[in-house]
Amino acid sequence: MSDIIRLLPDSVANQIAAGEVVQRPASAVKELMENALDAGSTMIKLIVKDAGKTLIQVIDNGCGMSETDARMSFERHATSKIKKAEDLFAIRTMGFRGEALASVAAIAQVELKTKRIGDETGVKIEIEGSEIKSQEHSICPDGTSISVKNLFYNVPARRNFLKTDSVELRHIIDEFQRVAIPNPQVAFTFHHNNTEVFNLPVGNLKQRLMGVFGASYNSRLVPVEEETGIVNIKGYVIKPDFAKKTRGEQFFFLNKRFIKSAYLHHAVQSAFEQLLPNDSYASYFLMLDVDPKTIDINIHPTKTEVKFEDEKAIYAFLRSAIKKSLGQFNIAPSLDFNQEAHLYNMPLKPVDGIYKQPTITVDPNYNPFKTDTSAVKPSERELSNYANWEKMYSRHADNQLEFEIKKEEDTQQTINTDWDNELHESNLKSSYQLHNKYILTHIKTGFMVIEQQGAHERILYERIINALEKNKSATQQELFPKTIELNASDFALVKDLHTEITALGFDISEFGKNTFIIHGIPAEAVDGDSVALLENLIENYKQNLIELKSDRRENVARSMARNMAIKTGKSLTQEEMNNLIDELFACEMPYSTPNGRPTITTFSSDDLDKRFKK
Ligand code: ADP
Ligand code: MG
Repeated sequence: MSDIIRLLPDSVANQIAAGEVVQRPASAVKELMENALDAGSTMIKLIVKDAGKTLIQVIDNGCGMSETDARMSFERHATSKIKKAEDLFAIRTMGFRGEALASVAAIAQVELKTKRIGDETGVKIEIEGSEIKSQEHSICPDGTSISVKNLFYNVPARRNFLKTDSVELRHIIDEFQRVAIPNPQVAFTFHHNNTEVFNLPVGNLKQRLMGVFGASYNSRLVPVEEETGIVNIKGYVIKPDFAKKTRGEQFFFLNKRFIKSAYLHHAVQSAFEQLLPNDSYASYFLMLDVDPKTIDINIHPTKTEVKFEDEKAIYAFLRSAIKKSLGQFNIAPSLDFNQEAHLYNMPLKPVDGIYKQPTITVDPNYNPFKTDTSAVKPSERELSNYANWEKMYSRHADNQLEFEIKKEEDTQQTINTDWDNELHESNLKSSYQLHNKYILTHIKTGFMVIEQQGAHERILYERIINALEKNKSATQQELFPKTIELNASDFALVKDLHTEITALGFDISEFGKNTFIIHGIPAEAVDGDSVALLENLIENYKQNLIELKSDRRENVARSMARNMAIKTGKSLTQEEMNNLIDELFACEMPYSTPNGRPTITTFSSDDLDKRFKK
């Protein structure tokens, strides 16, 4: 039998490697822009057609390449950035694996024009599916221009796998921002289908952020700056008032490279502590600078996770730097920071080089479960504190209620579904609102507790789904139409969702760059802040995209229902409570929110009776 193992031809090997480096147009954008940065450019232009499916072009004014280098740059493992293995530990450039151009050239039609400063002429190379089609001298400006046409033209399976233009465009915008934000010393422009998406002149970091996210960021940014032996931190956090409900504007840059880190995110989030409204995320743009030796750079080039040597210390420095800023700018009491001042005097490593485990003293007699009876029999301290009785009461009541609901779920009691009957016989007039959160009402067999926000979400959700199907809802026209300026990716999203948004009852029209005018809002929106209404819809929609892969209409309905629902904390009149109950039971599925949280729970008189037995 003959031998069967063969070496793959280069073009095939490159195509396989390309799958790792170039997953979508945005990955090619990232690689080309990083190359332009590495070339020392001060001006980088990105031109994209059809969300990168037809054309991605990056033009820079960097160092350019010689004719030989230009040809070499398409070879796999061809790089000018490392010469020996040790160089790997001192990497300051964005690229170093020498794979990007080879990968891109394997799956697209690429045209490279490049000229070094001082060279008389430049060179133009055309390469397609790893095959050089032409190479000639060319009159071109200093620097490099690379056009990537018809990405995946020879890999139909991958081409078909690409998402809609708006989705791919959003990925490109993300990558563009990740490169542009940490490099304000470089001017960037970005055109998509002949419209200008970004035009970012050279400036400082703050100006760059305003260029990317809009001038309104001027008053939202709080500077953070700290230099320590391990890490230098520089950047901005967004004032807590402007916190968002989604992760979207969380940017860490490690040595100018965008990274994701749940651990460091936690450090920032905890620095904000009680300053953030519930379920909101801090927004931040933080540049961390560390010695490249102390991070693991041997990571996959398209991955954004990193390993730090001094993770714990960086966490602590980051947290206290932010606390200090929030304190200094009177956003949080600066007392908080003083308590942590010792951190800065903390020796980085103990003199003997050995860390001692911190010791904790514990009360061996403490039993967390022993306080069981305190709900019935207040402790001495609580008694002496009787002036706070109100607080005490509400705390216990809360616990009790939570406990009850849990118990209800545990025992899986079947809910009596004969609501109509039950409700008619009960006296609806005497519904009772508890903690501006729950509605208590009797039913024949006991009583029922309705969670107001969830219940209203369910009602609105079913109504909106209906309206979307009919493609129509009532609109209330705004007396004074407002404008809303969005960032580029949210703008693209709203354009993409225009049909659904209109069906919800919004009346919006484009108004210049990244801006819409809101002429009308859904008639049902009780709280008439049109800008907040649309902003929250976008935020909820993006959040849902992360959490569940539901279809657009479903997502829009859920987002809008959550957006418009009456909130916990709103006090309701007797009539409002009765309407809510009526409408809830007119729903197809009254028992849970669209996201599956229960809206109703019941308690039977038997249950109560048992509790009052001796
Ligand atoms: P890497 O960036 O990892 O070195 P690439 O495949 O991205 O690998 O690029 C290969 C080489 O081509 C680079 O090391 C660099 O020398 C050269 N190169 C690529 N793009 C440019 C550019 N825009 N300007 C100058 N040189 C470039
Ligand atoms: Mg590169």
